[in-house]
Amino acid sequence: MQIDIISVLPELLQGPFAHSILKRAQDKGLVSINLHHLRNYSTNRHRSVDDYAFGPDAGMVLQVEPIYRAIEDLKSRCHYDEIIYTSPDGELLTQKLANELSSKQNIMVLCGHYKGIDHRVREHLITREVSIGDYVLSGGELAAAVIVDSVVRLIPGVLNDETSALSDSFQDNLLAPPVYSRPAVFNGWEVPKVLMSGNFKEIERWQMEQALERTKRLRPHLLDSVDEQ
Ligand code: SAH
Repeated sequence: MQIDIISVLPELLQGPFAHSILKRAQDKGLVSINLHHLRNYSTNRHRSVDDYAFGPDAGMVLQVEPIYRAIEDLKSRCHYDEIIYTSPDGELLTQKLANELSSKQNIMVLCGHYKGIDHRVREHLITREVSIGDYVLSGGELAAAVIVDSVVRLIPGVLNDETSALSDSFQDNLLAPPVYSRPAVFNGWEVPKVLMSGNFKEIERWQMEQALERTKRLRPHLLDSVDEQ
C-alpha cells in the first residue's frame, strides 16, 4: 500500500510513523508512507498557501490552487483508490472503515489547517471525508496519524501472532476481554484464576462472557449492529 499525505506541517507526522508497528510495516515493504509539504506547491515567492476567508468570519483558509497542484502532481504519478480529506464533519472513523481502507492499494490524505480548506477542493477533488471524532483539532495531521495507524495495522503481515488484530475490540462488534500478565498476585490483587487453569475451553468461555458483559455495559450500540448483520 502507498499512502501520500499532504500537509502544511509534515514535521508533525514524522514521529508517529517512525516507531514500532508503523515503522516495521514500512521496513518490511508492506506500506510506503510519504509526506508532502503543501508549501512546495505554492506559486508565490513567500511560499504561502493560505488567505483570508471571504465573508465576515475571521480566519485563514488553505487555498484551492496549491492543493489542486499538489493533488494533480501526485495523481500524475500514482492511481489513488481514495483521496481523503480529514474533516470534523466527515464520516466517523470506525473499525469497519479502517478495515475497508486497509484493503485499498493507494490512498492520499489531505490535512486541513486554520479555518479549513477552500470548499471547492471538497467539491471537486476529494473522494471521501473522514473525521476521527466530534471535536475540533487545530489541524488534520493528528487525525491523519490516527487514520493511518488504524489502517496500516490491518494490512496482512504487519502484525504478528501476538499482536493479531483479530482479537482486538470492535473486530467482531465486541470489546476485547481484559488481559493480565505476571505476576499472578501483586499487592494482593489477583489475576482471575481461570486464566491460569490451563483449560483453554474454560478460558475461551470466560473471555467471551467478559467481552459480552463489557460490550453491554460500555458500548451497547455495538450489540444492535450484530443483529443488523
Ligand atoms: N472550521 C472547521 C474546523 C477547522 S480545524 C470546522 O468548524 O469544521 C482545522 C483542520 O483540522 C480541519 O480543516 C481538519 O482538516 C482538521 N480537523 C479538525 N478536527 C478534526 C476531526 N475531528 N477529524 C478530522 N480532522 C479534523
